[in-house]
Amino acid sequence: MSNLLTGIRTIRDLPIDNKRVFIRVDFNVPMEDGVITDDLRIREALPTIKHALEREARVILGSHMGRPKPGKDNSAFSLEPCGIRLAELLDAEVHMPDDCLGDAAKKVIFDLRAGQVCLLENLRFHPEEEQDDEAFAFKLSELAEAYVNDAFGTVHRAHASVHRMAKLFRDRGCGFLLEKEISALGKVIGQPERPYVALLGGAKVSDKIVVVETLLKVCNTLVIGGAMANTFLAAKGHNMQASLVEEDKLALARTILEKAAAAKVTVELPVDLVVASSTQAEAGTVVSIHEVPPGKMALDIGPQSIERFTRHFADAKTIFWNGPMGLFEREPFSAGTFGVARAMASSSAFTVVGGGDSAAAVHAAGEDLAAKMDHISTGGGASLELIEGRKLPGIEALRG
Ligand code: ADP
Ligand code: MG
Repeated sequence: MSNLLTGIRTIRDLPIDNKRVFIRVDFNVPMEDGVITDDLRIREALPTIKHALEREARVILGSHMGRPKPGKDNSAFSLEPCGIRLAELLDAEVHMPDDCLGDAAKKVIFDLRAGQVCLLENLRFHPEEEQDDEAFAFKLSELAEAYVNDAFGTVHRAHASVHRMAKLFRDRGCGFLLEKEISALGKVIGQPERPYVALLGGAKVSDKIVVVETLLKVCNTLVIGGAMANTFLAAKGHNMQASLVEEDKLALARTILEKAAAAKVTVELPVDLVVASSTQAEAGTVVSIHEVPPGKMALDIGPQSIERFTRHFADAKTIFWNGPMGLFEREPFSAGTFGVARAMASSSAFTVVGGGDSAAAVHAAGEDLAAKMDHISTGGGASLELIEGRKLPGIEALRG
């Protein structure tokens, strides 16, 4: 497979000095009662924004926030709190017109001086954004002379500001965050250094069928944990009792195991599990996969499984992880997920984490594990679609 970045310029290559540059960012941060609870997404956009400001560009930032509904009070979806936070982080004024289009926005934008920044109001306040509307995209494009996308979390959606608008610019490219995402995720499905261990988990096999099939073609070892492993264990004849099992995916699980054997991919499944009577239980019990007690459900992998799984990390050159090993959101069932995260973080392999819940798990594990991974993808859906080998509209729109 050719490099996924082929034909895509980065902000470094674009003539943005003194120019009006539109940067599509992802400021869709978690908020409670108008207060930002985690500003990671804003901080991650800073290198690109600062680069543009250092080159004396006039920076126009565009983002969506949540899912505003037409005709409702959408004030909770305003990007104003993000603009305030950005101003603190940049230690500079951030101009904020109260609509992304219209005379007021134009006045703000065309009054920007070199090295100044404005943040447009939520692009989804216009339903045309999600409709990938041509006229809307054209109006947005008139605001700027160059286009940069740094919003990886949205590139799998053909929305106006990520797709149609990008194509209207001769000078278009990716920001640093998007470049790092495409490069890291491209590596784990393209030409990974071997041995290559793919670690999969999470809620369902059905969510990850294409991901598994793609990884099977490139990895040397496929490690499966989480609720997904329940279906594989059941397919191998184990009685999983009250565990989450996708009964209609048992045949698929067997096919995957056969394909793995044919491709000489080593598959590692849990040998022990942490079980409990309900997801609300205060504690779990470790049992072998051969003796899940009646009425109990598997909510985490056991200590022997952690040991067996992470043993593969020792000589690995590439490790890709998607999907928690258990119900990590609850402390009694977090050891498996945090255990593999810890082992992965201390491995010398090129380590990539994809998937929204998996990324959250690495952050929740603490111990500065997040900083020790080579790459944690910021896009849940987008990272999985890229791993599936799909062409994503927001990336393809930058090519050429
Ligand atoms: P990602 O977002 O990283 O792709 P998924 O969405 O596939 O991951 O799965 C994450 C969810 O799976 C988590 O909420 C986690 O609690 C749940 N999960 C993992 N293992 C189990 C299990 N054994 N039983 C119940 N839920 C599980
Ligand atoms: Mg998820």
